[in-house]
Amino acid sequence: MASREPGGPRRTFSWDGYDARFLSRAGGACVPVLWPGASATTPRAPEIAGLIDDAWLRLIENTLARLPEAHAARVLRVVIDDRPTEHGIAPFDRGDPSDARDGRTLWLHHRLFTEKNHWAHGNFGSYWSYHVQRDGVTVDGSPRDHALYSPVLMHEIGHLVAYSLAKPDAVGEVTPACARTCGDRGDCARLSPEERERGCVSPYCMPFKVAVGTENWAEQYRLFFQGPGARAALEAARAGCLPLLRELGGERALDGDGDGGYRRSRWDSCGGRACKAY
Ligand SMILES: [Zn+2]
Repeated sequence: MASREPGGPRRTFSWDGYDARFLSRAGGACVPVLWPGASATTPRAPEIAGLIDDAWLRLIENTLARLPEAHAARVLRVVIDDRPTEHGIAPFDRGDPSDARDGRTLWLHHRLFTEKNHWAHGNFGSYWSYHVQRDGVTVDGSPRDHALYSPVLMHEIGHLVAYSLAKPDAVGEVTPACARTCGDRGDCARLSPEERERGCVSPYCMPFKVAVGTENWAEQYRLFFQGPGARAALEAARAGCLPLLRELGGERALDGDGDGGYRRSRWDSCGGRACKAY
């Protein structure tokens, strides 16, 4: 069915001419997943609509089911329309009246579903981009009852959780104190490469546009819930947000992450080698 944009055009994004399916979650909540239908003006509309199938929706369901209920409940809507140039959410700025996005919607890129895991570049090296917990497979083309879940999607949900932790009057990007980096302090330029990445659990530690630690938070969040190997890496890093994550996520037992061990990042500060335990 095609949906309409509540409150008129450009108040919120990604409703007009969009098609929707509804995922049911444990607890009876319903999460709409939307994508541009034939009448939407988003450039890639026809290609995306033609690809989406049950296996894609299953990935979102499986991922939400692995997270604490209160976190899954932060996700009010999922949109697959390639609006961000990479997979991920569009920025959300409470202080910017032109930014009508709500901090409760995830915008995804179709490549999350059609590409295998791969190396990706961060600020301080490269990290393994876990589209799903297993290497060498894609969601697209998987059976409709597959057991794949998405650490990338967990990372994005981590951003929504961060918004929920912040004070209601917080402005712009919101970094939990435990994830702050040299970018938040404003002294990156004065530091050596080793000092700059201190406290960063992943080479993707800050957004490329704004020097703040929001990505350091989202990466810690996804490592915590990704699987036993990833959580061990987070513990080896003595990550600053571990106490908060334990408080938020409890000590939920994690089953196998199916990746045969966590793939460690490659850090620029040691010549692109996987020189750390994380
Ligand atoms: Zn992010």
